[in-house]
Amino acid sequence: MRSIINNYIGGQFRPASSDRTAPLHNPATEEQIGTVRLSNTDDVDAAVAAAKAVWPSFAATPQDERIAMLRRLSSALADSEPELIAAMRAEYGAPIHFTTFSVRHAGSVFLDMARTVADYPWRQSIGRAQVEMRPLGVAAAITPWNSSIGFICAKLAAAVAAGSPIVIKPSELSAIQTEVLAQALHKAGLPAGVLNIVNGDGAVAGAALAAHPDVAKVSFTGSTATGRAILRAGAQTMKRVTLELGGKGAQIILDDADLDRVAGMVLANGFMNSGQACIAGTRILVSRRRQEDFEQKLVAALGAFPVGPATDPDAGIGPMVNRRQWDRVQSYIALGQAEGARVLAGGAGRPEGMERGWFVSPTLFTDVHHDMRIAREEIFGPVLCIIAYEDDAEAIRIANDTTYGLQNYVFGGDEDRNRRVAQQLESGRIAVNGAAHEPMAPFGGFKQSGIGREFGAYGLTAFLEPRVVLS
Ligand code: NAD
Repeated sequence: MRSIINNYIGGQFRPASSDRTAPLHNPATEEQIGTVRLSNTDDVDAAVAAAKAVWPSFAATPQDERIAMLRRLSSALADSEPELIAAMRAEYGAPIHFTTFSVRHAGSVFLDMARTVADYPWRQSIGRAQVEMRPLGVAAAITPWNSSIGFICAKLAAAVAAGSPIVIKPSELSAIQTEVLAQALHKAGLPAGVLNIVNGDGAVAGAALAAHPDVAKVSFTGSTATGRAILRAGAQTMKRVTLELGGKGAQIILDDADLDRVAGMVLANGFMNSGQACIAGTRILVSRRRQEDFEQKLVAALGAFPVGPATDPDAGIGPMVNRRQWDRVQSYIALGQAEGARVLAGGAGRPEGMERGWFVSPTLFTDVHHDMRIAREEIFGPVLCIIAYEDDAEAIRIANDTTYGLQNYVFGGDEDRNRRVAQQLESGRIAVNGAAHEPMAPFGGFKQSGIGREFGAYGLTAFLEPRVVLS
């Protein structure tokens, strides 16, 4: 049993002052493996004060020094890769391909940000005005559990690049990963107060940080409901806010797509991170003429996504993060059946032969109407909806008929047609025919999937203010 009591404030590991704790579990065994002490508002105040104290000197740090810090942060992550992966496997339970990708990606965001700083237009003239991009003050980050290390590192990278000290409140469900990460990042030797990490829950520590008068900017990743609360809390002091929220991505399979090639990719997009991904493509839109054929190919491709614990090297889909999330996913499976959708594969309960662990049977619903709640609400588990359409126009209309707009997908045999369809989709990103992630491109959502963008120059700009001097 691991007992996590420390926050990381002003360059030191310090016990949280509250005695409230939350349990930590291994989701593959349901065993309790630790506890985390939940900070109170005094701890949040201490972290913000440490950040505020270093703010004037950090804001004046030359660009080369900030680039060097970003490089040291990346090396620190690389040096702790085995420990980070082990923590993620024990506490989150994700399959090995995801944990390895996730930790390496977290290290690479610092290097991407270092490149961004080097190429960024920090100063420009507009007529007689000199415009200079300035850091905007103490930043705060509030992050979720589904890729905790990656989200923390992305937000820290942008803050260091900008010259803003940051206070981070990670998810209380990821405290073991947070502790191992904090120990790794400490070795990068940032000036004291530039990075502060406070363990705690949303209702106390998160809310205090989101409303803190000395915080100038909040970068949040999490649910749309919490995003609304953070926006409201920030309004009092006009905080700059970046919100990366939920999604209900569509995968449009055009009728000229190579179904054999596409089926596996479509499942991979739907089941990514065991279905606990904001960018998952959870609505599969297929031409009615090819529906039956495609359904058979999807069912056949399911064999490539075995469910299992992180200790199983062949596992493609891991457990849900906790009991609550498992119950939530199960309730949506029951709801889909009650709404009249047909279970093509999977269904309620654990996969056959599994007695313990918060594992879900990868579930495909078909004959789904886009008005059903399973097609409109974010389930956040390996549960996908197949929706038939008549023509491209209807596919586009269904894809856009959602309050979300984070990431959509298009598969088809004709490049011009694929692009025409992509250009009509209302989302921050559209991936065509399995195109790879571009780390320097802006990431974020249209509509209720968020406000603002992360990564690359757009992500850096979100941590800056333009100051104009007229002379
Ligand atoms: P959540 O909103 O419940 O929690 C996220 C974080 O906010 C946690 O650290 C939590 O403690 C904190 N929090 C909760 N209430 C708060 C409050 N009132 N004030 C301040 N902080 C508060 O989300 P979750 O369940 O941890 O994560 C899953 C959600 O995150 C899903 O909806 C998913 O789509 C979304 N997500 C979005 C992205 C993206 O980039 N768009 C990426 C991953 C996850």
